[in-house]
Amino acid sequence: MTDGLTFAKYPLMIIVITNQKGGVGKTTTAINLSAACAAAGKRVLLIDLDPQSNSSLSFVDPNQVDGSAFELFTEGSRPFKEFVYPTEMLNLQIVPAKINLAKLEAKLVGDFDAIYRLRDRINEVKDDYDLIFIDTPPTLGLITVNALVAANYFLVPIQSSYFAMEGTDDLLETVEKVRSRPNPELSLLGVLVTLVDHRTTLSRDVESYIRNTFGEKAFKTVIRRSVRLEEAPAYRKTIFSYAPNSSGASEYQELSKEVLNRV
Ligand code: ADP
Ligand code: MG
Repeated sequence: MTDGLTFAKYPLMIIVITNQKGGVGKTTTAINLSAACAAAGKRVLLIDLDPQSNSSLSFVDPNQVDGSAFELFTEGSRPFKEFVYPTEMLNLQIVPAKINLAKLEAKLVGDFDAIYRLRDRINEVKDDYDLIFIDTPPTLGLITVNALVAANYFLVPIQSSYFAMEGTDDLLETVEKVRSRPNPELSLLGVLVTLVDHRTTLSRDVESYIRNTFGEKAFKTVIRRSVRLEEAPAYRKTIFSYAPNSSGASEYQELSKEVLNRV
């Protein structure tokens, strides 16, 4: 006889991939890290919160999408399941975004519970997944704040470039605000150096600067610049189905091990 509680061995972990800079590898990381964790046997849900819907396009045909992230936020009476779509991988599902998501912030502004919408919705499916990854737009508005309020962890991809750290202060400031009230549990999972080109001195310097700044929080794995990673979305594939023997595939595989060790 149990006391009526069923304990999930591993409670759901929610990880937001965020950086207010665009083009730093958020979406590439969301897609391939989700896929790697699903391949490792985790039940994974990827929620795309970027109106550009690049994460979604790798997995679903937008014409086939009826309920998407916008309706997840705005149509509270529809069950969560109506917004979830299968992918090529059994363990990986997605809540896609469509361009209508661009209208969400304007719609939410002024609602007293606006920042709690996503947290409340995820509560409905908390037993169905081991991991939820959330891809965010390159802004620190209500959408990103909803993701930070719902999450256990945030992961920050930083592009190995001269302006690498630009914007991270604002991000960390937003995180502190979220931590001070709505979500004290939120913590930094790690910083991922992306688009690395080890042939250049600048790239090596930026990487060591990031390691000095973030210490242990910088993932050991870095993601090198790779044509295969850039091409995969055009074929609607993850790096693991598009180019399983590429450097990108092995790097995202290694990253997934580090992530699973940290959560
Ligand atoms: P974000 O979501 O932060 O805007 P993306 O993941 O969409 O960034 O990446 C921006 C662009 O760079 C995309 O065209 C993507 O395919 C490409 N890209 C991302 N990571 C790599 C990489 N490691 N090597 C080569 N191209 C990459
Ligand atoms: Mg993106």
